[in-house]
Amino acid sequence: MFNFDNTYSRLPEQFYARVAPAKVPEPALIKWNEDLARELGIQSEQLTDRELAEIFAGRKLLPGSEPIALAYAGHQFGQFVPRLGDGRALLLGEILDPSGKRFDIQLKGSGRTPFSRQGDGKAPLGPVLREYIVSEGLHHLGLPTTRSLAAVRTGETVYREKALPGAILTRVAASHIRIGTFEYFAARNDRENLKTLADYAIQRHYPEIRDEADPYFHFFRKVGRAQIELVTGWMALGFIHGVMNTDNMSVTGESIDFGPCAFMDQFRSDRVFSSIDRFGRYSYSNQVQITLWNLSRLGSCLIHLADSGTEDTIESYNTELESLGTLFNRRLTSKMLKKIGILDDEKPEDQGLLRQWLGYLEKHALDFTLSFRNLAELVKNDSDSGFFEKTGDFQAFYENWKKRIRAQDRHADAIREGMNSINPLYIPRNHMVERVIAAALGGDFGLFHEMNAVLEKPYEEQERFNEYLSPPEPHEVVRTTFCGT
Ligand code: AMP
Ligand code: MG
Ligand code: MG
Repeated sequence: MFNFDNTYSRLPEQFYARVAPAKVPEPALIKWNEDLARELGIQSEQLTDRELAEIFAGRKLLPGSEPIALAYAGHQFGQFVPRLGDGRALLLGEILDPSGKRFDIQLKGSGRTPFSRQGDGKAPLGPVLREYIVSEGLHHLGLPTTRSLAAVRTGETVYREKALPGAILTRVAASHIRIGTFEYFAARNDRENLKTLADYAIQRHYPEIRDEADPYFHFFRKVGRAQIELVTGWMALGFIHGVMNTDNMSVTGESIDFGPCAFMDQFRSDRVFSSIDRFGRYSYSNQVQITLWNLSRLGSCLIHLADSGTEDTIESYNTELESLGTLFNRRLTSKMLKKIGILDDEKPEDQGLLRQWLGYLEKHALDFTLSFRNLAELVKNDSDSGFFEKTGDFQAFYENWKKRIRAQDRHADAIREGMNSINPLYIPRNHMVERVIAAALGGDFGLFHEMNAVLEKPYEEQERFNEYLSPPEPHEVVRTTFCGT
């Protein structure tokens, strides 16, 4: 089924612990992601749901699988923790897709490991469904992300505040190397393994920089750019990751670790959902500063690998970090301007226009996603469905915007279509995710399958599924999300 081709488990033993998945009593398949399986070249046609459940509950180990829990450290809410690691996840092995691209196949919720500390290594059903929906949703929205290959029930009860059904998610990632993996070896002053890790990550993800005079510096730059593309992409969709700890930031620039993440309904730049983020460290707009802070952590590890004089090295990393900060703002502005139909090169006054628009959304607590879609309707006509209240704030923005849009040498239809191709109609709204989970806990997985199907085409109108595009009714609003471990 898989042609495993493992490389991480060939690295020195400090990188991981070999662990077998826990035996679960009664695996049952919830979902098998056939499209993804096909993309990855996985041969599963001959397998029954029962066999898939056995495999992805960790009961049946496939030939070539060498399960390991990866070691990593991390800054959690700014506090350094020298030893975290996979406490409830196991890397089964790596596979190559038909184009030769390498992917990790990982079980999440498969039992205790030497990194579990107080945890039970298990996952309740709710967070598994949530990660499945949000990761696949982000993928179909066009962002780099870990994917979900399978979700299974284990037949076991998991105890959190209450008794919950247990489940396991199978996650697919370009790799599971995090900023925190670098911090793990740096904290131990283990320069040899730090170098092994950096060389491995470069070889696996950025082979084009292998022969640079200082490949580690170029690696820093590559990771910086990848993370900036990712986080500006999140922000353009109103997505708040919620736990951007350095152990949750992949060096591949993929979205990873969906705990208390959420898409905003009403726009607020300081929006926070996570129950444990009491000071708003990971709020919507702080994601800019936090990305750079996390990158500075990575830089402080990589500095130890430089050959040149320390002061010069520090200077060059500092300069690079500053230009990454500039790049972040440039990319964010450019993505947001495209969302309001400014497709030409940016003009100095565009920043002000964008501020005016976001200020208007925030002041009137408008739905982030629907505002952009409704604005697109105004490219051609002056009257929309009545979505925007025609207050003074709106008129002030609208007149400037209309002038700016019309100054572009582009057909109105092309501008409208351009906007609609990047402004989704459907996002994984929190209240819908909650509704799906509630139904599943009651034994009905129909909504889960339906929601995943709707989110496969987030930019296309699907008339039968209007409830997926509507903001929550007041009583449905989700104000707080939980890590749900
Ligand atoms: P996270 O908040 O998902 O980024 O996890 C932070 C750390 O806690 C990681 O080292 C996880 O492996 C560990 N962890 C989270 N939940 C559990 C659990 N239920 N059992 C064991 N370890 C866990
Ligand atoms: Mg973490
Ligand atoms: Mg994590």
